[in-house]
Amino acid sequence: MRNQIVAGNWKMNNTTSETEKLLNELEKQTLNKSVKVYVAPAFTQLSQAVRQLEGTPIKVAAQNMNAAASGAHTGEISASMLQGVGVHTVILGHSERRSLYSETNDSLKDKVATALNAEMELIFCFGEELEQRKENNHFEVVRAQLAVLFELPEKAWDQIILAYEPVWAIGTGETASPEQAQEMHAFIRKEIEENYNSSLAEKVVILYGGSVKPSNAQEIFSMKDVDGGLIGGASLKASDFAAIVNAF
Ligand code: PEP
Repeated sequence: MRNQIVAGNWKMNNTTSETEKLLNELEKQTLNKSVKVYVAPAFTQLSQAVRQLEGTPIKVAAQNMNAAASGAHTGEISASMLQGVGVHTVILGHSERRSLYSETNDSLKDKVATALNAEMELIFCFGEELEQRKENNHFEVVRAQLAVLFELPEKAWDQIILAYEPVWAIGTGETASPEQAQEMHAFIRKEIEENYNSSLAEKVVILYGGSVKPSNAQEIFSMKDVDGGLIGGASLKASDFAAIVNAF
């Protein structure tokens, strides 16, 4: 059986005191033990979160990193810096990074390579925009975004978690229907099968992201090819995030 994963992407939210409070509240929640849980605070709160969550099963992920090992990249953070504070998972290719910070399939290829070489786990995000869905191009867009990964050796997939996040559903309150999510997740598995084999396709964890909340998580997670969620807004409230984790 594939891992079930729920990851909270805090985006640019939570100062030191807010982080402490949210994590304290989260630690008080009863969480389904069969679900792997991650939180992804801002860079400045990573070491604090790692320290506070020590001894709990909740893992800490970063929201981004640079492809370079070190050097003249003002304002950027490297894989070894993340690992130095105890972070071994990174979200790459989030739609906000793509749309607001000009990340492209090409630049992501380098980040993916760096993360893999550093033996980090990565949560790779991708998904179509509203216009692309309206024009019925969503499968082609996703295929092109995934092509970044399909040049990798099969072994690399041990470190990869996929997160399908239709851009039109992120932070909008509009969720893909469970059927739309299932349809795309099944397509993604088929793509993996065609580029590799069916046993890898069956193994890869594919999360859905886009306005998942306590009221819709169960329906979405019940879909056969949906293995969990990447949660933005609802991860900022401990009880909502816990309810999503417990929706399996
Ligand atoms: C996200 O940022 O990855 C996300 C899915 O956000 P939200 O849950 O707020 O739509």
